[in-house]
Amino acid sequence: MDFSYMSYEQFKSRFSTEDLCAQYIFHMKWPEGFICPKCSHRHAYITKTRKHPLYECSDCRYQASLISGTIMEGSRTELRKWLLAIFLVSRTDQGTTAMSLSNLIQVTYKTAWLILHKIRSFIQNSDTQSLLSGSVRIHSAIYGRPFNPSVHRHPQEHLLLVGSSSNESCDSSYIKIKHIQLSSPKERHISRNEIRTFRKQHIETDTQNVEIITGFYTPQRLRPLLEIAKQASSWINQTFHGLGAKHLQAYLDEFCYRRNLSARNISIFTHLSELCFSENGTHIQMI
Ligand SMILES: [Zn+2]
Repeated sequence: MDFSYMSYEQFKSRFSTEDLCAQYIFHMKWPEGFICPKCSHRHAYITKTRKHPLYECSDCRYQASLISGTIMEGSRTELRKWLLAIFLVSRTDQGTTAMSLSNLIQVTYKTAWLILHKIRSFIQNSDTQSLLSGSVRIHSAIYGRPFNPSVHRHPQEHLLLVGSSSNESCDSSYIKIKHIQLSSPKERHISRNEIRTFRKQHIETDTQNVEIITGFYTPQRLRPLLEIAKQASSWINQTFHGLGAKHLQAYLDEFCYRRNLSARNISIFTHLSELCFSENGTHIQMI
């Protein structure tokens, strides 16, 4: 089921009721049909007396909620609003701000912000599970004000490491962009320590073929990686009108998430639904 070809209006009509949304979420959560989380029995009775459907295992009587273990756990917001938010975030042609989301799905700014924050944290977890491997290249880059050729970093410049991996079996590379926060605010040199941390967190341990380029005056610059960092910066600036250090990483991850799925011709909406609605969505990898 791919709905990404639909316009927002069409999508809204397709999922016009809570029941229709519950059916879709059920399919994402239990693609093979209901499985009791306790005893793996395949049959359940549905109770609809609560806000969200409740599935009671016909064998051990365990009650599984539709939203437990999903992005909506603990949320009082309607299923439909969550689904609409995920659809809007999945659209490749634009990013979604809390302000526009709050207008479109009719929730408060605070709720819209929390929904987006939750979706981005699921995207970040998915990236954490996907490590670079094969032939890996890493390049330093800068987000923020235009490059200023002094030895010190401008307070609004943020250092990034852009990493890409390409495997023999895969034509397109997997990209990660990580915000490197240095202890000294003026420092603009990424040390061996930061590189070591990046390798540990983002590259598979047995990877041999790793090319690392840091520094801004080196003649061997990897232009494609710098170009990707530039595209990420422009997207963030155009959609969110620039931002400080606190949420930069979440936006960089969102940019890479879209890019990596598009490069593989995977529907962003389907992948994001799977991520957000399956019981252990945070374990879904991309590579
Ligand atoms: Zn059971």
